[in-house]
Amino acid sequence: MRISDCGFNEILNKALVTGDLSREEIVFLLSLEDEADVKRLLETADAVRQACVGDDVYIRGLIEFSNMCARNCSYCGIRADNPDVHRYRMPIDEIIETAEHVVSKGIGTIVLQSGEDPWFTADRMREIIRGIKARADCAITLSIGERTYDEYKAMKEAGADRFLLRHETAVRSLYEKLHPDCSFDERQRCLNDLKSLGYQVGAGCMVGLPWQTVEDMAEDIVFVRDLNADMVGIGPFIPHPGTPLGDHPAGTLAQTLKMVALARIATRNGLLPATTAVGSIDPFGREKALKAGANVVMPNYTPLKYRVDYEIYPDKKCINEDPEQCHGCMQARILSTGRTIGTGPGHSLKHLR
Ligand code: SAH
Repeated sequence: MRISDCGFNEILNKALVTGDLSREEIVFLLSLEDEADVKRLLETADAVRQACVGDDVYIRGLIEFSNMCARNCSYCGIRADNPDVHRYRMPIDEIIETAEHVVSKGIGTIVLQSGEDPWFTADRMREIIRGIKARADCAITLSIGERTYDEYKAMKEAGADRFLLRHETAVRSLYEKLHPDCSFDERQRCLNDLKSLGYQVGAGCMVGLPWQTVEDMAEDIVFVRDLNADMVGIGPFIPHPGTPLGDHPAGTLAQTLKMVALARIATRNGLLPATTAVGSIDPFGREKALKAGANVVMPNYTPLKYRVDYEIYPDKKCINEDPEQCHGCMQARILSTGRTIGTGPGHSLKHLR
């Protein structure tokens, strides 16, 4: 699509003021190639971020408590059929103790992530959630995949505040191609259940997936806007050699930053992480994402002996580093971008309204 300079100004102005862009306009912005034009897009997103959520960057402490997984997502390194993964489950006591330690560092949210591990029943998750809440003053985000309404309800009642369940791609045919053993409708059902149960809900997608077009990516932006997602995690696809997609090229930094910018423009006051994946394809990927609309970081606090085995993609940032080092490193990175570190739980502003 060719849009005149004057049209470009008009679209950027709309992006700044309302974010109410059409699919066509989103495709146009995602297709920008000229460096100066892309810079203007990212700066517009940064201005929206400044106006809608301010300068605070929230730090969430990530604990990857199990890499057991029943599913076979064709991009993911810990998929069930990958025989080369050394599988682990952290004991419940150790999960609670790790969370307590992270909160003692001044971090207000614990993110509990795992593969789809049925051993962690809703009852066991409740024990973990209650154990953490009894010992530490923090918000809890779960990222454990698809469950029934009743399980989500039980975990919410036990005190879970938020749930991250990336929609992965909003295009049904692409979703089905990437998830041979799952259903697009079921993923949507989960997101809707989580919303109706009062969780702050995080959706999100990968950028540069095999077969994905800019039109597909525009669907992701429209999707998170329509869902009114509280959080949106966006990272590049990174091929893992132990998966069926191991030979495909990775998503690029440039395209990922444009998607983060569009997500900011579309969600206005959403919580947008500068993801570990974007930090894994570029040494300053997270700082660049923070300047393109992001306002959250999720450093990894998984004990070192486990984290080496949570390899959803290769060369994952900090996979060999001591959690203590990550703590200082992340704070320095935030401050280097001229931003401030958020205190408290950093709840969704959408939810408070
Ligand atoms: N089992 C949980 C958590 C999955 S891991 C769930 O289903 O929600 C968290 C995210 O990592 C996934 O949602 C996916 O978007 C991302 N991911 C997995 N493999 C990846 C890869 N090869 N490259 C980039 N991101 C990947």
